[in-house]
Amino acid sequence: MFKKILAVDDSEVILNLHKMTFKRYPNVELITAKNGVEALKKLQEIEGIEVILLDINMPLMDGITFLEIVRREKDKYGDIPIVIISTEGEEESVLEALRKGATGYIKKPFRQRELHELLEKIEMKLKQGKQ
Ligand SMILES: [Mg+2]
Repeated sequence: MFKKILAVDDSEVILNLHKMTFKRYPNVELITAKNGVEALKKLQEIEGIEVILLDINMPLMDGITFLEIVRREKDKYGDIPIVIISTEGEEESVLEALRKGATGYIKKPFRQRELHELLEKIEMKLKQGKQ
């Protein structure tokens, strides 16, 4: 499992759900942000974030804008995997995010196991890519 995860969502409920999910993994450090602006700040300040869980609709800076910035500034942010956490009715935005470089997506409400499996798949692909 990834060891440093950044979860970005303006919903306290979803952030708490992420916290509960990763509590089971004592080696996982979960960092949270409430919008794209805060997420960019944390990405710059905190080293070694390995994956980002990203909401689409957020105040100040939405997920799509955040994604664009991170992908545009590769030298700064690297090739960090970004998983979109989407809501019913956001299919268009999910497609846009995938076109713009999102690694994968999952729909709310999701089971904890679904998210685990997706993260494990992404991690495995990354490892294979490095070999
Ligand atoms: Mg939201």
